[in-house]
Amino acid sequence: MTGPGTPPAAPLERVVVSAPGKINLSLGVGGVDGRGYHQLATVFHAVGLVETITVERAVGLHLSLDSHVEGDVPLDGGNLALRAAELLRARGGVSEGAAISIDKRVPVAGGMGGGSADAAATLVALNRLWGLGIPPEELRRLGGELGADVPFAMLGRTALGRGNGGDLSSVLAEGQWHWVLAVPGGQLSTPEVYRRFDQLVLEHGRDVRQVPEPDADQLQALRCGDVELLGQTLHNDLQGPAFTLHPGLEPVIALAEGAGACGAIVSGSGPTIAVLARDAEHAAELAGVVQASGLVRETHCTTGGMPGARILEES
Ligand code: ATP
Repeated sequence: MTGPGTPPAAPLERVVVSAPGKINLSLGVGGVDGRGYHQLATVFHAVGLVETITVERAVGLHLSLDSHVEGDVPLDGGNLALRAAELLRARGGVSEGAAISIDKRVPVAGGMGGGSADAAATLVALNRLWGLGIPPEELRRLGGELGADVPFAMLGRTALGRGNGGDLSSVLAEGQWHWVLAVPGGQLSTPEVYRRFDQLVLEHGRDVRQVPEPDADQLQALRCGDVELLGQTLHNDLQGPAFTLHPGLEPVIALAEGAGACGAIVSGSGPTIAVLARDAEHAAELAGVVQASGLVRETHCTTGGMPGARILEES
């Protein structure tokens, strides 16, 4: 309790925040709205591959990266963590700076929202370091200006995304979900996968004005902890376009399904593939089969439904 004579708390010097990568359990893509965004109905699911961001007081904004994954990450103003810091500084009327370090574990350009997780963690960390006190909902709205996946990286667990994906509602997901994340070589550019989607839609004459609906069976599977039903309802409208751009994906899905996975799906715009297992032992067995095939660069066994961006340490 504070009162007269209680010295004010010293300002924080350092804050450490983690934020999860995500997979999409379903991704229905519809037509384009007036601002040029595709209308989505997607179920985001946060997994245990996690980014950790450390922010420390500094003059000006600085960025450093310790990456445990392959792939080029911009260290200039194009980096989503720096863009998040600049946005918060502008909106919060902040003149202070920060040194931001990213400990990167989410595959780069892998369809797992790693850059978005960095942006989410940076917003949470700097909100605390600079003592801005912006409430979570407003911080998520700010994050949505940086990218459609950023608000989910703050919310975490499992959530339904509508609109461009940033319009979120939490989904009840009972029990523990076990996944193998299979990372093939190569990267896929999200805009390119959407362009391919548009091309295929035109060729097949689908109604592009439609607004996709959430999959009621999938929401039921999550509520009941029914892993077999969840496996049957995994669905991604970007998977076909991703297959045409990256021929290495379809064989991995076929292999995992043939080896007894409950389901397998390209995550978001790919190329990471999420393989659903019954339990931890089953996941380890499936990871062994997929890794031994030589079709992928790496596999990770993990669980789903992880929390969103959260403070790990502050001093
Ligand atoms: P998207 O969010 O576009 O679907 P993704 O989840 O597939 O992307 P990310 O790892 O977030 O993949 O990165 C996509 C691109 O964004 C990268 O190729 C990189 O050039 C750029 N980028 C900007 N900031 C970051 C960051 N902090 N981490 C990773 N990539 C970043």
